[in-house]
Amino acid sequence: MEITSNSCNKSKILIFGGTGYFGKHVVRASASFGHPTFVFVRPATPQMPPSSLQLRGEFRSLGVTLVQGELEEHEKMVSVLKQVDIVISVLPVSAIPDQIKIIDAIIAAGNIERFLPSEFGCEEDRITPLPPFEAFLEKKKKIRRLLEASTIPYTFVSANCYAAYFISLLLHPHDPRPDLVVYGTGEAKAVLNWEQDIAKYTIKVANDPRTRNRVVIYRPPGNIISQNELISSWEKKTGRRFEKVCVQEDELIKLSQIVIYAGLPSPDNIAVSILHSVFARGDLMSFDLDEDDLEASCLYPEIEYTTIDQLLDIFLVDPPEPARAALE
Ligand code: NAP
Repeated sequence: MEITSNSCNKSKILIFGGTGYFGKHVVRASASFGHPTFVFVRPATPQMPPSSLQLRGEFRSLGVTLVQGELEEHEKMVSVLKQVDIVISVLPVSAIPDQIKIIDAIIAAGNIERFLPSEFGCEEDRITPLPPFEAFLEKKKKIRRLLEASTIPYTFVSANCYAAYFISLLLHPHDPRPDLVVYGTGEAKAVLNWEQDIAKYTIKVANDPRTRNRVVIYRPPGNIISQNELISSWEKKTGRRFEKVCVQEDELIKLSQIVIYAGLPSPDNIAVSILHSVFARGDLMSFDLDEDDLEASCLYPEIEYTTIDQLLDIFLVDPPEPARAALE
């Protein structure tokens, strides 16, 4: 299979998981920056929802090349990889260990200039959350250690929280209700970045010599906010008052233990411990950045990121449907 492209000398980017919740933003950002963009997709099935077929159609209309295949098809992956420069994986939680197959194919291809594995969350080497979330992070850390020990140039992206995902969960703008749940005291600071901005930063990071073999943290100042500040801002914008229903930190700890004993499968078993880590304990902001750290809004001041305040204005007019109910 020969990939043809009419594009210039921009790097060619191959994306795994590009049809997913976050992946589609990465595909759009890559195409919008003018990169010849390729998405490794599983073959379409009759059970596939119309929205997935529409998304594939949208990608084609953007000039994106869809390459059909499975992660098990090593030779096919190698032949595709030989025709691109950069690989970005946005595979879901369940497929994190499968990235070993991508790494094997990258080693066999031998030409990849940068690989970004599927991380896009907290800075996993700097926090220690409760066991269910910790076990999940261990899977991502294994991939980190594997890449560090390899000759593959990599970048690890700590994108912090997907803002639309968590604003939907915390404020229910699409489904207004009189009360809102607050995890912990509501005072701990979190970082909520809009998915579209995370995607743009990610394409920049993937092409940047400064980020080779480094961790990049996405912590724009306008996106650092506590739950209490978020609710108060939302109250001002909507002109409504919400009753706060507090779930204290010790209750979250107990609940996270219950889900372990109940034997809930991944990723359902990590929801409580994520809420505990991010919102009750404030893990995302629990460490300071020093001059050795790479922060996205400092690296790319030319990207006008969307602040939480601007994002709430968008939610006020046209709240997106929540991504899924995994953390409900
Ligand atoms: P998702 O929506 O579940 O994405 C699924 C994508 O992966 C789809 O393109 C799907 O392809 C593909 N896929 C699934 N299993 C596959 C397999 N076995 N082989 C090949 N392709 C497969 O994922 P997501 O929720 O966007 O997660 C992506 C990353 O974001 C993960 O690292 C996750 O931990 C992270 N995340 C971060 C936050 C945050 O707030 N920071 C929140 C959620 C997730 P098909 O179209 O073929 O099904």
